[in-house]
Amino acid sequence: MVAAPVFAAPERVRETPSIRDTASSSESLRIPLRTDRWCPASPLRLYGKDELAPKDMKGRPANPSWIVDMPVLSVRIEAPQRNCDGSCLGQIGLTLAESVNLWRHLCLRCKPGFLDFVLVDDFVYVDEKVFPALFSGGGAIFERILRAERVMLGLDAVASSDGNAIDSYVRIPRATALATNICKADLSALSSMWPGKLQHALCARDTEVETSAFARLTVAFGDNPCGKNFLACGDPAKRIDFDISDTLYAVGTGASTFNVLGNPRSVPAVDLDAVMLHEMGHFLGLGHLQMKNQPAAFFPAAMLDEYRGDFCISIAETMMLNSMTEAGWRYRATACSGLRRPRSAR
Ligand SMILES: [Zn+2]
Repeated sequence: MVAAPVFAAPERVRETPSIRDTASSSESLRIPLRTDRWCPASPLRLYGKDELAPKDMKGRPANPSWIVDMPVLSVRIEAPQRNCDGSCLGQIGLTLAESVNLWRHLCLRCKPGFLDFVLVDDFVYVDEKVFPALFSGGGAIFERILRAERVMLGLDAVASSDGNAIDSYVRIPRATALATNICKADLSALSSMWPGKLQHALCARDTEVETSAFARLTVAFGDNPCGKNFLACGDPAKRIDFDISDTLYAVGTGASTFNVLGNPRSVPAVDLDAVMLHEMGHFLGLGHLQMKNQPAAFFPAAMLDEYRGDFCISIAETMMLNSMTEAGWRYRATACSGLRRPRSAR
């Protein structure tokens, strides 16, 4: 097998001095892998590496959509301060990262490193295998980038912490010294590749600059433009709106369920992560699954148009996501669509 080429170090980024202060283990947090959000027949469940490798998805998209080569997602959360304090914002970020983590492994036609970096407020979520190469250990920035590149291309095998074929994210504070050093480094020679995209997302002050360099998402909690019968609305490649005037959002299961935000009188609470999973599907370009002749009780697929607390990612969504890598796919979601409240709550 011929090794995929790793890009060579341009002269001008070689001189970056070695960085000592990196993300320490006390600052980093491995986020949970939500295997409970995989449908029983999902290709994610208990499959081996080979079965999930991109080589098994024949052919690359002829006219690739934006997600195919998108290593970095930058998210802004908008929520009224009186409803959502620091821990509430942290929980929303965590829920979002859990959802992105489920989706990103399904895009077998996306390039290596698809959504390996997600920036949410004060935190950066990094693929757990890329994390040690880039953010811990020593070396100058370019050495770290090279190590991370090899991991992303699968040239260096790194064991996952739990032996699972699916990686998760490690969360680190954005204010680590390395993030600052990435901003200082001259990565212009890598501007169209992931290091340059990560630098733009981490460091760009002018939000209008380089709008195509990385994906952006606004997650807003307030009025939902789809109307009273809907919990939330997803606008592909753009934003997600959650209603908070008639909805209460909670996370967790059983005795460890707790409310995150919303109207405390709107009970029962809905699962924030179930709604997030659905809306992230819209963000990536998926429309609703048409299940007219299927009993919905049988199949809680995440892209059904009515809320289910047990939403899970199924083989149907996997096929949709990979079809969606073609820019001209006819079923691509292009307009805002709403998630209906459960029938009992209308
Ligand atoms: Zn929807």
